[in-house]
Amino acid sequence: MGVCSDERRTILLLSSLVGEDLRLTLLHEMCHIGIGGGYSHGPRFLKKMRRIARLGEPKLLEDIERYDGTSDARRVAALRAQGQPVHEISFRQRIESDLDALSDEHYARSWPTIRRVLAEQNRLAPSEIDRFAPWAKREWRRLGAEGRSLAAADKAFKEGRLPAGAKKLLRSLK
Ligand SMILES: [Zn+2]
Repeated sequence: MGVCSDERRTILLLSSLVGEDLRLTLLHEMCHIGIGGGYSHGPRFLKKMRRIARLGEPKLLEDIERYDGTSDARRVAALRAQGQPVHEISFRQRIESDLDALSDEHYARSWPTIRRVLAEQNRLAPSEIDRFAPWAKREWRRLGAEGRSLAAADKAFKEGRLPAGAKKLLRSLK
């Protein structure tokens, strides 16, 4: 609903936001100032949000709980209380799935950037990613290469050109 850019010193907000939604979204975006990367909802961001919540904006707590894991934990506890089985995926599956999702848009990003995002998403320190998922860096390199070739194929497709692989195949058939 909003975007905060440190480089451009700008906060963009959806023009349809009004009243409380507008106020809460603006406060959320203001907490991104100086932290870098609009997707960063890590400990520093959450610390600012908690301070504002304490100072008189308790509604922000809902937003905070979405990012600090409280909402997820509550949902799982509620399902368990109803006797519903909760399917838990392994740590490795979760990291692999996060990397895969990140590679859709951010395949060109360096491993240190991705490691930081991954750490925030999983509420770990970047060094813990190295320790608990030592294979993740190699997996990111593979996904990065895959993302780049997919993007090249996409571009070729949009421009009506044949992808390099298909051209080679045609040449070999001549
Ligand atoms: Zn945000």
